[in-house]
Amino acid sequence: MNTEHQIKRIGIFGSTGSIGTQTLEVIAAHPDLFSSEVLTARENDELLIKQALKFNPNIVVIGDEKKYQKVKEALAGTDVKVFAGEQAMEDVASMDVYDLMLAAIVGYAGLKPTLIAIENGKAIALANKETLVVAGEIMMQKAVENRAPIIPVDSEHSAIFQCLVGETRNKVDNIILTASGGPFLGRKPNYLVNIKREHALQHPNWSMGAKITVDSATLMNKGLEMIEARWLFNLKPEQIKVLIHPQSIIHSMVEFEDGSVKAQLGLPDMKLPIQYALSFPRRLSNDYPRLDLKKIGTLTFEDPDIKTFRNLALAIEALNKGGNLPCVLNAANEIAVFAFLRNRLGFLDMTDVIEKTMQHVPFIASPTLDDYSASDGEARNFAADLIRL
Ligand code: NAD
Ligand code: MG
Repeated sequence: MNTEHQIKRIGIFGSTGSIGTQTLEVIAAHPDLFSSEVLTARENDELLIKQALKFNPNIVVIGDEKKYQKVKEALAGTDVKVFAGEQAMEDVASMDVYDLMLAAIVGYAGLKPTLIAIENGKAIALANKETLVVAGEIMMQKAVENRAPIIPVDSEHSAIFQCLVGETRNKVDNIILTASGGPFLGRKPNYLVNIKREHALQHPNWSMGAKITVDSATLMNKGLEMIEARWLFNLKPEQIKVLIHPQSIIHSMVEFEDGSVKAQLGLPDMKLPIQYALSFPRRLSNDYPRLDLKKIGTLTFEDPDIKTFRNLALAIEALNKGGNLPCVLNAANEIAVFAFLRNRLGFLDMTDVIEKTMQHVPFIASPTLDDYSASDGEARNFAADLIRL
């Protein structure tokens, strides 16, 4: 936060999505602490206009340039500056009109704006896990160089972050990422083979964007989160465990070297980790429903079935091998999920596309940013060819 500003100025990149809209709810509840100064969206012009009229940001960016005129005209009577296109999103990321970026774009598309924000020393509240999956080492290094704090928004990582507060000198043995297991927990391939889009989009505990909801159903989400955790908390792959916990009450745990385990609990509501990322190191009061463990009754745990949910096995392979493999895994997964959501690819076929793409794209042990960009492109093309997109 710039010292001359009492109010923390937030730039929400991806303001029209599930995380973006919930972030605006948090900001609206604390107008004395936060203002939303940048709002960006890929194509949802109507919601972006509505948000701009309500929150009066300094700048809005609409990714789809064809929609520029409409947004510009709708905001003509206001002070809001309107820009359009991918380049504009990157330009705005570097401007001194906000203090903290809420990185809520989905997928690889969020990488460049986030890197630019880091290079400009902005604080980052990171929802966009794919950026760390693709280029975690480079991002974390740049964050240290530019003194740009990265505070997780992903609920599991927020939980771990909260467990680590006050523990800087203490050694972590393991972290345990909890996973709901998604809507198909306990199911076998003979059932999964017939799963269609509508079925996969029904998550038992969380209401989220389409891509992450499919990733939760395939357990790829947990694999991406393992890689995300590796970079956020500077861990070795073998220190990162996954435990299925269908109630989604324990959001994750840290096991210290003395065997003590700390957990963070709460009802599944993304506004909590969003609020914490905005207000850290403070906590803010709110009127959200409270956890009542008596009502929950039982918390259960089991191992993930990685023989059935093979996406998680592939992500663990990428985590262990490192290099450009997580980037390739992510790109192939983005294409596979895109195709699945358009009924162009079966539920289990997503895994085959990702596996074949990982085998195809040449391995690079220590990639540069240009290498990541090339690997991402190559993996997307190969995966799209496989599906005949
Ligand atoms: P969403 O699809 O609901 O929203 C995505 C946002 O990004 C939208 O505002 C959209 O306009 C924008 N966007 C999409 N593609 C873009 C592009 N190519 N260029 C610029 N902007 C683009 O997604 P979401 O569920 O809000 O998830 C956002 C990120 O947060 C994802 O990385 C997801 O993994 C992560 N996350 C989400 C949740 C959740 O509860 N939704 C929880 C944890 C982490
Ligand atoms: Mg999560």
